[in-house]
Formats: sequence, C-alpha cells, structure tokens
Amino acid sequence: MSSGFRVGTGFDAHRLAPGRPLMLGGVAVPHDRGLVGHSDGDCLLHAVCDALLGAVAAGDLGEHFPSSDPRWRGAPSLTFVAEVRRLLADRGFVIENVDATVVAEEPRLAPHLAAFRASLAEALGLEAGRVSVKAKSSDGLGAIGRGEGIAAQAVALVSSRRETRA
Ligand code: MG
Repeated sequence: MSSGFRVGTGFDAHRLAPGRPLMLGGVAVPHDRGLVGHSDGDCLLHAVCDALLGAVAAGDLGEHFPSSDPRWRGAPSLTFVAEVRRLLADRGFVIENVDATVVAEEPRLAPHLAAFRASLAEALGLEAGRVSVKAKSSDGLGAIGRGEGIAAQAVALVSSRRETRA
C-alpha cells in the first residue's frame, strides 16, 4: 500500500512598481512599491497555491485562474487559496504542512514573518506549527537583488484521506 503522501513545489515572482500596495501572504506590508499582477501580485500565496496544486497533480494557478478571465482581475490572492483548499478537500486530501521562502532585497521582511505565518495558517485552516515562512535576500544578485521584484518558493505536503489508493 502506498503511503498516501504527496509533495509539491511552487515558485512565483512579480515585479515591484509604485502606486500599489505590497501584499505578501495576504498581509499588507508597508512599502513605497507593490507587486504588479493581474490579481494583487501576492507571489507568496501564488507559490503556496502552486505547491498545493502540484502535490495533487492538478496543474497550476494560471490554469485554474487565467489572467484572461476578468473574474480574477484585482482579486485578493486569499481567494485563490480558498479555492485551492476546496479543490484539495474535494479530492480527499488534507494539507500536512507548508514551508515557503520569500526572496526580497527590500523591504526587510523579518518583522512581518509572524504575520505571514498567521495569515497563511488561517487561510489554509492549519495550526501555526504546520506553516513556515522564511525570508531571504539574494545578496544584491540579479533582478531580485536590484530590488526590481520579489520572488517566493514553497513546498507543501498533503495526505490522502482514503484508505486504499491507486
Ligand atoms: Mg503570480
């Protein structure tokens, strides 16, 4: 019998531009620029959604929420998390844990990590001990290092509720 555990990874990056709120993990972070995207550009939530979808081989965020669909224009990314959570539940999966890393040169994200974790845990219906968010800079290297954007990667472990599995 297989273990019923599935793991998935996600990655996302968005450009920073003036005149937009900076949303990360569903939290508004004080900054003079925000992430550009069809939705609110929340690359942390997008990476987490892709990790969850990847774990159950259900495609990716772009497939479920195409930018061509006006329904998702300016949508808070917490909406996507709720939809992905429902998809997993419908397929009989529970989320075991999520671990994510945000890569940003600025602003400094360390003071916001607890808020990111709490927001993500609530959105996923998990206790805080199953949700981890870390922050890194890229030491000035490349576009992220020049502060042109912010990237995030995530890994998620899910398990099947079913007794027997294909
Ligand atoms: Mg994205």
